[in-house]
Parts: sequence; C-alpha cells; structure tokens
Amino acid sequence: MSALEIEVFSCRSDNYGVLVHDPDTGLTASIDAPEEAPILAAAERRGWKITHIFTTHHHIDHVEANLALKEKFGLEIIGPVNEALAIPGLDRTVADGDEFTFGEHLVRVIETPGHTAGHICYHFPDDKILFAADTLFALGCGRLLERTPTDMWHSLQKLAVLPDETAIYFGHEYTLSNARFALTIDPDNERLKTRAAQVEADRAEGKFTIPTMMSLEKETNPFLRPSDPAIRRNLLMEGKTNEEVFAEIRKRKDNF
Ligand code: ZN
Ligand code: FE
Repeated sequence: MSALEIEVFSCRSDNYGVLVHDPDTGLTASIDAPEEAPILAAAERRGWKITHIFTTHHHIDHVEANLALKEKFGLEIIGPVNEALAIPGLDRTVADGDEFTFGEHLVRVIETPGHTAGHICYHFPDDKILFAADTLFALGCGRLLERTPTDMWHSLQKLAVLPDETAIYFGHEYTLSNARFALTIDPDNERLKTRAAQVEADRAEGKFTIPTMMSLEKETNPFLRPSDPAIRRNLLMEGKTNEEVFAEIRKRKDNF
C-alpha cells in the first residue's frame, strides 16, 4: 500500500483546500469544497481526477463548490448525518465511529460538535492523518457557533487522545492571530515562544502553517492545555475545572 499524497492550497480569503490522493487506486478526495477554481487548478496541477468530497460541516466556505464539482466529476459527497439537510449534493451520511475505506486506507469518522452541531473530522489512523477542519486549528480551535464550551471541550478531548505523531490538516490559516493570542494565555511556555516566533517569520514570508502535529499542539495550543498549572495560575483559575478554564480561554479569544 503506497502512502497517500496530499496537496494543500489556499481558497477564498483564509481557507485551506486539501486534496488527498491514493496512488494505488487513483481515488482523490477533496476535504470540503471551499472554492471551485483553486480546487480545479490543484487537481489539474497534480493530474488527479476528484472522486470524493469529504464534508466536515455545513458552512458555506466548506460546501460552496459541492454542486459544481459534482457536476464536473460525478463524484460522491460524504458528510455528517447531523447536518445532512444543509449540505448540497450529499450522497452518503456518516456518524461518529463510522469506518470506511478509501482505497485500502481506513477512514474513521469522529464527531466533534462545537463549531457546528454536527461537525465531523476524518481520521486516517494507519496513515496518522487527521482532517480537523474548523474544530482544531494550529494553536487554536473553532468558534462556538452552535454548541457550548463543554461540548467543544469534549470534542477536543476526542482528538487529543490520537497519537502524538498524527499530522493535522485544518480549515483556516488563522495561525498568526492564534499564536499572538496563545502568548497572552501561556506567556512563559518556552516551546510556545519558539513556535510563535517561527509562525511570525513563516507568515511574513507567506508560508503555510499546515499541517501541524498533535504533539506540538498538546505542548503549545492553549485550548488543549486548560489543565496546565501555569495557565491556571495566569488566569487566576486554579480551583476550576478544565471545562471552565477552556470556556474562559475561548471567551478571551472571541474578544482578542
Ligand atoms: Zn466553519
Ligand atoms: Fe470555515
């Protein structure tokens, strides 16, 4: 079984487009469909024919090109059962814990309510790849538009148990703002300081910050670190639960 090939490119203002290609079978999945033209250009560049869209949630910046790509490629659209009615052209629904294969590659569906009520992530356990869309970002997490902080905290816990060496592809390039915010929550974290400096330099050159790695997120992403003693001390929340600390960090980010 050959390794999956992945093509990352920008779409819209700050979305990432991602194509995943299985060289053994020729299957190619677009993770969400934020914008038709850059997705077509990426497929053309690599010489890939798109056979699937793996939809993570119903927001327009993740589904807008569904019908156009379906028309063009006759592809199959897979997406979350809990948002089925809001996803254009959906062919097959999946729910938490569902498994299917992409060529010979196993895919596991992880429901992560928070950003939206039915948001799902696609995990390729044998390839150690996670497509986290708007649930987990580099140094951040999605805004809580349809669910509570407690729901999102539990969703993030489902991702945090994945292996440290999991590569994470996320939905938006928000990393610079996330890094600056993270420093206000966790200012003495040496690993974070080093990473934030790197992000400043990379973004100044227009470099992508995708993918990230689970180990790095656990060490530096404040939304995965509400149990950290230094963060709790800094927030004056030493006696609080992880959920309460998480909610406070999310609230501060909303106002950052
Ligand atoms: Zn979204
Ligand atoms: Fe989005």
